[in-house]
Amino acid sequence: MARLDRYTCEEVFRRLDDYVDRELGSEEMTQMQRHLETCVVCAREYSFEMSLVRQVRDKLQRVSAPPNLLGRISAALEGAAES
Ligand SMILES: [Zn+2]
Repeated sequence: MARLDRYTCEEVFRRLDDYVDRELGSEEMTQMQRHLETCVVCAREYSFEMSLVRQVRDKLQRVSAPPNLLGRISAALEGAAES
């Protein structure tokens, strides 16, 4: 079986940053998605990376947002955390 129809965990780990940033081609995105749906180890690593990215984006938003928006953003974040 020379044909690669599935990524190994190593290949997923190598591409994880690009996948989080959505910088992969559609074929690679599909392969990553397929692996993450079936592999608990990589899915956990992926959700960890995603939570880090979200935290950084939240911080950047807070820094660049005008003061009157801060209350609305933190209220929205609290709402999102509850759901
Ligand atoms: Zn895996």
